[in-house]
Amino acid sequence: MRCRAKNCGTEIIFTLTKNNKQMPTDATSLTEEDFKWLANNNGILSFRYGEHTSHYGTCRNPEEFRKNYDNLSKQKSAKRGITDSNK
Ligand SMILES: [Zn+2]
Repeated sequence: MRCRAKNCGTEIIFTLTKNNKQMPTDATSLTEEDFKWLANNNGILSFRYGEHTSHYGTCRNPEEFRKNYDNLSKQKSAKRGITDSNK
């Protein structure tokens, strides 16, 4: 998918951190092996610290990106019927 923030449009891939959180990751930081794995597996790649680049750090419009991403997470949670009452 592409980042929807204004002036950005970077290709991003969602990976999974060790805390099982989805991390938007710059597609350019993924290796050829990563893409091969993604093509052959119906799964989600693990975020590798020091190797993969989080899009939170590189987005040209981080404020808007955060907002979009928060909404996205909320929609996903709502679909699963999970309510986040801590926020
Ligand atoms: Zn972006």
